Amino acid sequence: MIQLTTATAIEKAINKARTVKPRVHVNCFGSYSVTNKTTGATYTVTCEKRDGKRFASCTCRAGELRKACYHLAAAVAAHIQLATEQASH
Ligand SMILES: [Zn+2]
Repeated sequence: MIQLTTATAIEKAINKARTVKPRVHVNCFGSYSVTNKTTGATYTVTCEKRDGKRFASCTCRAGELRKACYHLAAAVAAHIQLATEQASH
């Protein structure tokens, strides 16, 4: 579980996500399955809010080491989009 502070903290992961373009499947609000289309590897990313702070975690090796991986970056982008859509309804 890592805390999402600023976008720059996960900027490298965001850039990698743009290159890899993984498929993000929404399981439910806050839970996402991210698949690398090349390798077929799927990891689950969880996003949650605690005390007004945003946290996210990924089930991959990097995620276990609390590193911002591109799965997490891709899921967070989808999560923010969903949250924005929900807020506008
Ligand atoms: Zn990951």
